[in-house]
Amino acid sequence: MTDFTQDFAILNQRVNDEPLTYLDNAATAQKPQQVIDALTHFYQHDNANVHRGVHTLAERATEQYEAARAKVQHFINAAEPAEVIFTKGATDGLNLVASTYGEAHVQAGDEIVISIMEHHSNLIPWQQLALKKHATLKYIGLTADGELDLADAAKKITDKTKIVALTHASNVLGTITPLKQVAKLAHQHGAIIVGDGAQAAPHIKVDVQDLDVDFYAFSGHKMMGPTGIGALYGKRSLLDATDPYQYGGEMIDFVNLYDSTWTELPWKFEAGTQNIAGAIGLGAAVDYLEAVGMDQVAAHEQRLVDYLLPKMLDLDYLEIYGPHDPAKHTGVIAFNIKGIHPHDVATALDMEGVAVRAGHHCAQPLMKELHQVATARASFYLYNTQADADRLLNAIQEAKEFFS
Ligand code: PLP
Repeated sequence: MTDFTQDFAILNQRVNDEPLTYLDNAATAQKPQQVIDALTHFYQHDNANVHRGVHTLAERATEQYEAARAKVQHFINAAEPAEVIFTKGATDGLNLVASTYGEAHVQAGDEIVISIMEHHSNLIPWQQLALKKHATLKYIGLTADGELDLADAAKKITDKTKIVALTHASNVLGTITPLKQVAKLAHQHGAIIVGDGAQAAPHIKVDVQDLDVDFYAFSGHKMMGPTGIGALYGKRSLLDATDPYQYGGEMIDFVNLYDSTWTELPWKFEAGTQNIAGAIGLGAAVDYLEAVGMDQVAAHEQRLVDYLLPKMLDLDYLEIYGPHDPAKHTGVIAFNIKGIHPHDVATALDMEGVAVRAGHHCAQPLMKELHQVATARASFYLYNTQADADRLLNAIQEAKEFFS
């Protein structure tokens, strides 16, 4: 894999007198210079509001904003740009679906099915919708090694199910879910499927048409784009038939005194001035990832996991959550040093320059399932190297010795 360090100046620094080893990519990824340059260039040369003006800067800004949408469309293989709605991120996209499609279609006695490994962003919107509508929320369980239990999915999804919402990749267990099979199951029962792509879109090739998902949400900042921007994919037939839930400028066709009509897709769902620079920055991140190739990104992370996971499993004082087979594991590895609180572990690793996250990872029901309050989590991206994996192993060893 290419040496990416010249594109990521932030990685060339020392933390606590040690070289920075950034392994918190599941929380947010670093931004290449190309993304930072795209933001700076926009603000230095082209900044204007989109769609509203006929002056040159407004036209340039609009062109770049819509070009970014087309890049995202291509990145996830949506059928047309109108199926890509810019959002604040995955959370915003999932809430949008729950508050629009969900609000309109879920009635008392209906069922919503999610999994026990969901991030709170793909759990609370459905939990609250179920409470409000007197619908039943059901959870698909896990297999013994932390994969989605497809047999349980087949039991939980019934003709009463209106919405199935499932993560495409777990932010804790490091598993990729069989989203395509679950989409098929959902459709067989007349339900729609919503994919949470926050941990998948940055790391594997996503093809929304092949997956046959009805909605798919992800965040720009986890795929090297800016914070505050993300995208929601929706099938045109569903988006056309769904009313927006945010009102204001940009999203209207006509406003009369006592009623209004909405403009076309995708702008119907983009009320108010959007994160224009953020969308352009996300477009630059897509360019960067596509130049590397998503297959290369996935293969690189797989090589790191193939190298690291067996070495971690050999350390009998470590507990690893999720599959022990590296082939079933993404670049997210949640672990605990037995008897030591993960916050202490993360602090000790930071002393060695190694940045990992510790906590419940916004997945409290999953933590309960794992009988843990919290875990440490190392997560890799395309700029991480085998040397980073070795530094993590050394830092874990030192933390163990320090606390023993
Ligand atoms: N879904 C998953 C699986 C995540 O890991 C995250 C963030 O960690 C989210 C949703 C929410 O993403 P954001 O906070 O960018 O909206």
